[in-house]
Amino acid sequence: MAKRDYYEILGVPKNANDEDIKKAYRKLAMKYHPDRNQGEGAKKAEEKFKEAKEAYEMLSDPKKRGAYDQFGHAGVDPNMGGGARGGPGAEGFGGFAEAFGDIFGDIFGNQGGGRRGGGGQQVYRGSDLSYATEISLEEAAAGKDTQIRIPSWETCETCSGSGAKPGTSPKACPGCNGTGTVHLRQGFFSIQQTCPQCRGAGKIIPDPCITCNGAGKLKKQKTLEVRIPAGIAEGMRIRSVGNGEPGVNGGPPGDLYIEIRIKAHDIFERDGDDLHCSVPVSMTTAALGGTIEVPTLGGKAEIDLPEGTQHGKTFRLRGKGIKGVRSAYPGDLYCHVNVETPVKLTDAQKKMLRDLDESFRSGGDKHSPNAKSWTDRVKDLFK
Ligand SMILES: [Zn+2]
Ligand SMILES: [Zn+2]
Repeated sequence: MAKRDYYEILGVPKNANDEDIKKAYRKLAMKYHPDRNQGEGAKKAEEKFKEAKEAYEMLSDPKKRGAYDQFGHAGVDPNMGGGARGGPGAEGFGGFAEAFGDIFGDIFGNQGGGRRGGGGQQVYRGSDLSYATEISLEEAAAGKDTQIRIPSWETCETCSGSGAKPGTSPKACPGCNGTGTVHLRQGFFSIQQTCPQCRGAGKIIPDPCITCNGAGKLKKQKTLEVRIPAGIAEGMRIRSVGNGEPGVNGGPPGDLYIEIRIKAHDIFERDGDDLHCSVPVSMTTAALGGTIEVPTLGGKAEIDLPEGTQHGKTFRLRGKGIKGVRSAYPGDLYCHVNVETPVKLTDAQKKMLRDLDESFRSGGDKHSPNAKSWTDRVKDLFK
């Protein structure tokens, strides 16, 4: 397939200046970023994104642009030299921040997140949003595709996003002459501040649109498909790039963070990749030994209890824990034996137990390993 013209891709004329090229790319990158184009059409969007990225990389570099203008695609090879910005693994797209790092870096600097954009207005990245979702331990172990409802903003149709009542228009803010900032003199210093009258927007709306109260946008709900990876742990956050609040004055949107909460499980307690559970065992099975069935997250397993298993003894089932998000192998399942004292005995059973007790006593300490060592220690204490 023949390569498209870089100018055509960005939709700018041959004599476009750097600012126009930057703007055009920003628009395309926002539209086609893989993080915002999932499901149907993702493949196509990805191609468009790559195409726009390449075009921008070529046309934003004066040397490459010159070569391209003279020789066309033959003059520049995106696979050579400077194109390898990301180094190995540059195949990934990174997040929005990465995609915009080079073009927004100069606009968004470190000055409290906002600075003057081209139009003399404060440009801000939208705020990040946080959303908590609760899942079961089984879902955390196996992973889950889920949908969440999040707030989203749509341009108000009544005023086409201007925030002004149809037929009227926003005016330059008199407090700052439309710059969005005011300078306060304090002694020798001049302090630059966001204009309190327009809160940095640079304009005021004398006659606000009734539909959106002058905001220019309306809060709606949208459904987001979220893939929760297998092995996710309590408190981990999934970042959904660009799904936070919209930016101000053309700034990029914030991100959405989905925080994972895991419901308490009836049987298992999680400790990292390991699971623990308490297994009730009858007094007789503990004494005589036998096979007991224990639950696992994936089904059931069996443990062979040896004769004379003591209360509190732990059995480890290798690999029956959870495979963490970053783990190579699953953790283990620890089964803690909980020997149960029988209750609601019949007279006959009580008689048998008394007879049994009689027989134990005649055997001395040898039937009670713990009691023997305990008695010895108590003796030492009172020596
Ligand atoms: Zn102002
Ligand atoms: Zn409106």
